[in-house]
Amino acid sequence: MKILVLNAGSSSLKFDVFESDPEHRLTGGTIERVTDMTGAVASVFDQLDPTGIAAVGHRVVHGGDQFTESVIIDPAVENAIDVLSALAPLHNPNNLEACRAARTHLPLVPHVAVFDTAFHHTIPPHAYTYGLPWEYLTKKKIRRYGFHGISHRSVSLQFAELTGNRPEDVRLITCHLGNGCSVCAIDKGKSIDTSMGFTPLEGLMMGTRSGDVDPGAILHLITHERIKPDNLLRILNNKSGLKGLSGVSNDMRDILAAAGSGNERATLAIDAFAYRVRKYIGAYLAAMNGADALLFTGGIGENSPFIRQKICQNLHHLGIELDSIANLAEGQEARWIGNAGLAVWVIPAKEERLIARDTLHCILSDQTFRSQM
Ligand code: ADP
Repeated sequence: MKILVLNAGSSSLKFDVFESDPEHRLTGGTIERVTDMTGAVASVFDQLDPTGIAAVGHRVVHGGDQFTESVIIDPAVENAIDVLSALAPLHNPNNLEACRAARTHLPLVPHVAVFDTAFHHTIPPHAYTYGLPWEYLTKKKIRRYGFHGISHRSVSLQFAELTGNRPEDVRLITCHLGNGCSVCAIDKGKSIDTSMGFTPLEGLMMGTRSGDVDPGAILHLITHERIKPDNLLRILNNKSGLKGLSGVSNDMRDILAAAGSGNERATLAIDAFAYRVRKYIGAYLAAMNGADALLFTGGIGENSPFIRQKICQNLHHLGIELDSIANLAEGQEARWIGNAGLAVWVIPAKEERLIARDTLHCILSDQTFRSQM
């Protein structure tokens, strides 16, 4: 039995096929520069042999407050994902288009939605509530949701497995540092806070996204500089963060190279990026009164010893100290890089595997599908 996983991003479509044992990946690939998601899904099916695919798992970014776990997609779920597009206009429409297109290619097998927000449904009200008028919080559902949940959950499960612990016994701070970046506080296996909020714009500085900015500054740009909200949405999502600050690129490798050649804006971008990660780590150590481990994942988190060192330097009073040799080691495998008060690990996020595992779990626990198998 095979599981197909589709991960539709804003301009790419990743696909992976797993044997029903999700640890066994059979094939996969990425369609880049996608302008038509339906066409991209069609080209995945041109490349694949669909025989034996028993289910399709879809990454869906926003599940709002109603989806607290993965679900089999039916018309009502599709409709809910559509309604939630208002909260995630850059992500949910593409996710939904991929779901609909894949269902036309494989109409007889179950399709499962695995939400990026679901892992964060355990965040308590005092952490997800903004200081806004009550009706905005209740009627308009303006609250923190958190994203990257599949990645944070994946590395936390891997850490527990690698260290012989049960997930519900560990307290972790997980840093997903890729193009998008977020930090998560995981207490006894459950997300209790994360840096992204109502949208994936809040929190850390990212490749092209601003992260935390005083809302007063945004209002100033609208009212005094007459920048239109649509334009600001684009600026905050696509022209800010590392790219806006450095003026070089959104790619950390380019920024590190520019800083190495004396570019001061690139140096500032790196310093500001690392400083904000440090602040969130400090905040989450306070939120949990300590932690067992600090985990790094994502393109930057997995591959840049320099950025990890910058984030962790002079944190020994918080129990964080990198081993300078282990930190320099390269590779695709999970590895420890520090072992003072807190263990520090690099763990590649295996999001697609977790989506496959959830998809399998979802269909096996569904009576209707189980009886057909
Ligand atoms: P996404 O969030 O789109 O999945 P990735 O997790 O692949 O992105 O992360 C992309 C980021 O990782 C880019 O900023 C890239 O520069 C950075 N990155 C990849 N390899 C390295 C490296 N060796 N050193 C520093 N940054 C790196």
